[in-house]
Amino acid sequence: MIIIKEFIPKGRGNRPGYSMDYQYVTMHNTGSRSPYADAKAHSAYILSDSAANRPASWHYTVDDGVIYQHLPLTENGWHAGDGGQGTGNRKSVGIEMCENSGIDFNKMEDMAAKLAAKLLKDKGLPITRLKQHYDWSGKNCPMVLRSRKNGWVEFVNRVVRHMASDKIDYDKPKYQGIVLSDTLNIRSGPSTRFDRVNSLNKGQIIDVYAETGIAPYVWLMIGKDQFVSNAEGKYVAKYEKPDEVLKEEDDMLDVAITINSFVDYPMAEVVARKENCPIYPPGRTVKAKKLIVVGGRAPDGFKGEIIALGGKDRFDTARKVEAYINK
Ligand SMILES: [Zn+2]
Repeated sequence: MIIIKEFIPKGRGNRPGYSMDYQYVTMHNTGSRSPYADAKAHSAYILSDSAANRPASWHYTVDDGVIYQHLPLTENGWHAGDGGQGTGNRKSVGIEMCENSGIDFNKMEDMAAKLAAKLLKDKGLPITRLKQHYDWSGKNCPMVLRSRKNGWVEFVNRVVRHMASDKIDYDKPKYQGIVLSDTLNIRSGPSTRFDRVNSLNKGQIIDVYAETGIAPYVWLMIGKDQFVSNAEGKYVAKYEKPDEVLKEEDDMLDVAITINSFVDYPMAEVVARKENCPIYPPGRTVKAKKLIVVGGRAPDGFKGEIIALGGKDRFDTARKVEAYINK
């Protein structure tokens, strides 16, 4: 991302110089369709007397090749139309997106989204701090995005995607989902404007790495550059594994000992030495294929093989244990 810094000189009418700790990022469209109205031309304009006298200023202008920066991020500009004390003017970074005829809007918007994502991330601000000029003053701006169907939602999705893309751990899905609809398209980005790259069928289990978009138009990132819609939660439900059965088998012991009373512990130790296995105290769930019960009864629900070494009393138990270890 190439950013050319060409700051408005200090003291100009459109460099107010109020210090700013920005809390928002505000998007605009320039409103100029002239083929020459690129970022460089806007940089020239913002340095002109006409811009100084209005006064009008913002922080960045983005076209499809380059970004110009006109003000430091620590100072405010006059771009939001909400007055001298307005939050838009005093607490937000203004980004103008060019619309000169012939511009590659897709490329320009991606650069603008990347810039907005970086600005939000640098300050630890959530996506909800991304604003339209419209939000501050009701002006129909950014008009290109606002007049395109789903334009703003898709732009926000792009910003989220750029915010997420460098911290996704593809070894660690956030959760698993199960496909609810008969077929579900996988797209290369979080919008129906992106290419369909594959599809899923009902009942398939998918790994979900991130959620993007604005509710209810949520998109799930299920892999690198792979997205599925989950608008209104209709297409994918969170999938809970029925049971951790396999995992339990993994740490299942061959043999274990359980006791019902600590008076049986000395005898249990004798058995433990022979079998080289652990002793579980009363009331503990035991995962083992074979369970030796020293004193008392086997715990309820144990499904493996049980060797009962319980007697009428602890002397009787001791005799049974002795017979077992001498076997
Ligand atoms: Zn605007």
